[in-house]
Amino acid sequence: MKIQTKAEVLEILRMPYEEFNLNIKIKAKETHINHNNNTIVVTALLGYDNICKNQCTYCGMRAGNSGLKRYRMGIEDIKKAEESVKKLGLRRIFLISGEDPKYDFKDIITMVEYGKKLGLFVSLAAGEFSLEKYKALETAGLDEYVLKFETSDQDTFAKIKPSTTFENRMRCIEYIKNSTMSLASGNIIGLPHHTLEHVADDIMLMKKLDISWAPIIPYMPVPNTPLAKEGGRGSLETTIKEIAILRMMMPNVNITAQQPGEDVKNGLADVQGNLNALSSGANMLFVDMLPQNLVKDFNVIDNRMIEGIDNVDRLVKMSGMNRS
Ligand code: SF4
Repeated sequence: MKIQTKAEVLEILRMPYEEFNLNIKIKAKETHINHNNNTIVVTALLGYDNICKNQCTYCGMRAGNSGLKRYRMGIEDIKKAEESVKKLGLRRIFLISGEDPKYDFKDIITMVEYGKKLGLFVSLAAGEFSLEKYKALETAGLDEYVLKFETSDQDTFAKIKPSTTFENRMRCIEYIKNSTMSLASGNIIGLPHHTLEHVADDIMLMKKLDISWAPIIPYMPVPNTPLAKEGGRGSLETTIKEIAILRMMMPNVNITAQQPGEDVKNGLADVQGNLNALSSGANMLFVDMLPQNLVKDFNVIDNRMIEGIDNVDRLVKMSGMNRS
């Protein structure tokens, strides 16, 4: 089944869920089996710094959230965490931080180079940089840069990301696209006041950018953030549909499977939510490398609750899929 146009995307997004479940989801799953041998990609996740100068209105780590305990991991601790990833037998690490102007860029280069020296596939999300800094990351051997556009709607972008502009975000994305680094990017699904048209536009932009990984989840309101007053969680059904559509449009793309389920308290660790995503074409699970005392402070969203390697092994078993 080929999905190429916005009209075709919208047709699936608007389809009754039962019909989608019977006719589309299974095709997305078949696509993953045929193209990727039904494989789950396991990635270590290290939120090394939760300090951020920005004021994104949906984010628990925004500068204005004075109630959050802030931390900044030093480079030696990050190197030790990278070694632990290797010892766990994982081959990928996703290093992520807020936009912390005081984090020494030389240390970011060092963590990339050290990860590469250990033979890891290294992804990094540290926000918007100058083009010179992206160039330095490329030279350091970074495999993938993660820069979400969050929404393709420029008015919404201006509202939810007041510390930057859509133009600047796309300029950074364009630069990454033109480098040897892969680009991971995507949307927040079901932002307040958004319609399925917005979701379809976002999907078309992901296709146009030919992303390597769709780090997508539904909008999950974080208490005490400005956007939380404007609407509740994004639709789980739309999220599952977006996963299936992306799998069929871009058979080899990685798609986050750590998805919420009905019970909000379980956050992204909801077993049914994760399995539902895996059965719809998603393929990427995470192992949190943060020490227990810091896990709850890395809260871009509430109840992030990504768990350890045992949880991933259990999910792999329950899904009947293969682990990479
Ligand atoms: S989404 Fe990222 S850039 Fe925006 S406030 Fe949160 S950590 Fe900072």
